Amino acid sequence: MDLQFSDKDLAFQEEVRSFLKENLPANLLDRSDRGLHPLKDEIVAWQKVLHEKGWVAPNWPVEHGGPGWSLTQKYIYNREYFLSGAPQTIAFGLNMVGPVIYTFGTEEQKADYLQDILESNVWWCQGYSEPGSGSDLASLRTRAVRDGDDYIINGQKIWTSWAQHADMMFCLVRTDTECKPQEGISFILIDMKTPGIEVRPIIGLDKEHSLNEVFFTDVRVPARNLIGEENRGWTYAKFLLGNERHIIARVARSQYQLARLKEIARTERRGAGYLIDDADFRRRIAKVEVDLIALEAMELRYLSQEIAGRKLTAEPSVLKINGAEIAQLIKTLTIEALGSHGMAYEPDPVFQRRNDRPIGPDYLHGAMADHLYQRAATIYGGTNEIQRNIIAKLILG
Ligand SMILES: Cc1cc2nc3c(=O)[nH]c(=O)nc-3n(C[C@H](O)[C@H](O)[C@H](O)COP(=O)(O)OP(=O)(O)OC[C@H]3O[C@@H](n4cnc5c(N)ncnc54)[C@H](O)[C@@H]3O)c2cc1C
Repeated sequence: MDLQFSDKDLAFQEEVRSFLKENLPANLLDRSDRGLHPLKDEIVAWQKVLHEKGWVAPNWPVEHGGPGWSLTQKYIYNREYFLSGAPQTIAFGLNMVGPVIYTFGTEEQKADYLQDILESNVWWCQGYSEPGSGSDLASLRTRAVRDGDDYIINGQKIWTSWAQHADMMFCLVRTDTECKPQEGISFILIDMKTPGIEVRPIIGLDKEHSLNEVFFTDVRVPARNLIGEENRGWTYAKFLLGNERHIIARVARSQYQLARLKEIARTERRGAGYLIDDADFRRRIAKVEVDLIALEAMELRYLSQEIAGRKLTAEPSVLKINGAEIAQLIKTLTIEALGSHGMAYEPDPVFQRRNDRPIGPDYLHGAMADHLYQRAATIYGGTNEIQRNIIAKLILG
């Protein structure tokens, strides 16, 4: 592995660090620290600040509004971003459909959508999963039938995160039933205000409304909203999923949360001393810390390979599996560190209705809901079992 930060990179690191320190809003940081989802208005406002600085879309090419950073600078930025405690920017526009549009979209689509994504003017959601078509995504059945200049769409999506906020959905639809499942899928952009769309909430294990079902009944979508070619949607969908898995590894976010866990263990009393003095708990923290160091080394190794020009294949899956499992373990240990208070369950809607302080220590609010939501980290973006299948196929042969 050959990766050394140059003086220029180190100066850049310092610039990122101080910008985040000076500009990250305290309320956003506070919610993020407590493991609460950011509020829509607050995260949009923050993304606009990042956009003004030119940093909201680190991976985008310069010609579409990206900052033109090297791979090393992108790595440094992401690391510093999460070490600052800042919440993940909403990925659907910036990390998912944006790159699909500038890579595969028409000039008209680029002009219509990219600037609004950069400015966070439009909230996107991801319409991939359906009942019965999650891991086996290629079996999806939401049907799009061409009718003149439009497609008529009928069917159902499920687990659609934040669809209740969404202005637009990028959606996988079946446009051909007479071929291999993967060859009859198209990728289309849908205005969520189109008649015939119904969004119904699913309340999660964490008692929050982040998930939805979306129903389509004779929804008329202009054919110009199709990305690329009809029936080539699987190619664009896979391109997008590769980016999504990279995000889920979130090494620096776990490092930040591990530091917080240690802080809690130094504060929580056990018997005559503090939890951090308990040999067994220290051993478990040390184990997760070693795993995280190994994951960071792996991420750096892949980065140095990318810099050397090697194209990654199943590596995002390796990062996703390990990153998600480590993040879950840190949350489990956090709940254990809170002792009996850890059992208190104060999801955000309940907390907001209270006019007193949270039960137990201040840092408790949100901890259990976050722990429960994190159970999904090994499911969304393709389950860890599916990632293992990908590794078996692509790396082990
Ligand atoms: C919090 C959350 C947010 C989500 N957000 C979105 C979103 O915004 N948009 C969207 O489109 N989807 C979203 N999803 C859906 C997610 O992508 C699917 O849940 C996931 O792909 C798994 O599909 P499934 O739920 O149908 O489970 P299934 O595919 O039915 O899997 C059930 C179990 O069987 C295992 N399994 C299935 N097939 C295999 C196999 N071949 N080999 C080994 N094991 C297998 C799985 O690993 C899993 O443990 C979200 C899910 C969650 C939990």
